[in-house]
Amino acid sequence: MALEDDLAHRLDHVRRRLAAAAARAGRAEGDVRLVAVSKTHPIDAIREAAAAGQVDFGENRVQEGLEKIEQGRDLGLRWHLIGHLQANKARRAALAFAVIHSIDRLDLLESVDRAAADAGRQPEVLIQVDLAGEATKHGAPEESIRAILEAGSRCRAARIVGLMLLPPFVEDPERVRPFFRRLRELRDRLAAEGADPRMLRELSMGMSHDFEVAIEEGATMVRVGTAIFGARR
Ligand SMILES: *Cc1c(COP(=O)(O)O)cnc(C)c1O
Repeated sequence: MALEDDLAHRLDHVRRRLAAAAARAGRAEGDVRLVAVSKTHPIDAIREAAAAGQVDFGENRVQEGLEKIEQGRDLGLRWHLIGHLQANKARRAALAFAVIHSIDRLDLLESVDRAAADAGRQPEVLIQVDLAGEATKHGAPEESIRAILEAGSRCRAARIVGLMLLPPFVEDPERVRPFFRRLRELRDRLAAEGADPRMLRELSMGMSHDFEVAIEEGATMVRVGTAIFGARR
């Protein structure tokens, strides 16, 4: 009982911080979707969060996500794949997740689109961006984003809805702020150059230690794990 109470309290606390950050930025609370990152945590914790009203959940591995989606069928949750997607798992991901945040190559977009079209599903996808000089392992380089957006307009089923950023881990959120700002500026630049605004609606950025700063810089989806579920095993 105590454990479940803690989870509901932590979730509530995160929601309040989210609302306060949105207010500081002059934005509506409803502009920011909280994705509860449940990786490594058991289905019981997910049920507890769902009972407290949480609908969006994120997993970073396809297999672990598929297991939980199956276990939580009755809950009517919306599942997000937030971790790196390997080409050989694109099909399975396209069939199960409502939102895929980690598209970083044209061929991955095409695989997801083909699988989704065959299955009659319409997953939302985001382009994970590797900002110049960021040198992370995954993400599409800035100069390739336009081509991926153009391919998105030819997709039959998958719908590109925005950009995602996983900046290098830095403890101090103020030092992450410039990365968040650069993703927003990239989005604005692409929009000014004529990209379809429906494909630039969402900015997925911000985690437990920096989601408030991300919201101040324009995040529309924050991916929060530890602050809700506690430390990962
Ligand atoms: C694990 C993970 C998160 C959440 O991290 P916390 O620090 O626990 O909030 C967010 N985004 C991605 C891509 C992750 O893998």
